[in-house]
Amino acid sequence: MSIPYLWGTDKKIISNFSSEPGYCPKCEEKAVSAHVYQQYNHLLGIPLYPTNKAYKVRCRHCSTHFYGEAIPDEVRDYIASRKREAGTPVMFFVGSVLYPATLISLILLFF
Ligand SMILES: [Zn+2]
Repeated sequence: MSIPYLWGTDKKIISNFSSEPGYCPKCEEKAVSAHVYQQYNHLLGIPLYPTNKAYKVRCRHCSTHFYGEAIPDEVRDYIASRKREAGTPVMFFVGSVLYPATLISLILLFF
């Protein structure tokens, strides 16, 4: 259990892209886009370390969101390759350096 805003998990968009090879299964328009999210654990809102990446698929024409098996195979393959290419930004490791450095500084300052 976590206390919101004190510690817990959150996610941020790290990549947006249009999926060229895919058509929307609902309206059949070639207007599918996706966001790749980086999920992370945080302490006081500062990211400690990244956990995993996830994605959301949406049709820009009919605004339908697709999850799991509803995502067409060609779109899923394209997204999987782009998801691998989307690196994890350094900002998701800031807390891993900041908190220990602050603790060591306080110990050196007061002891
Ligand atoms: Zn659509």
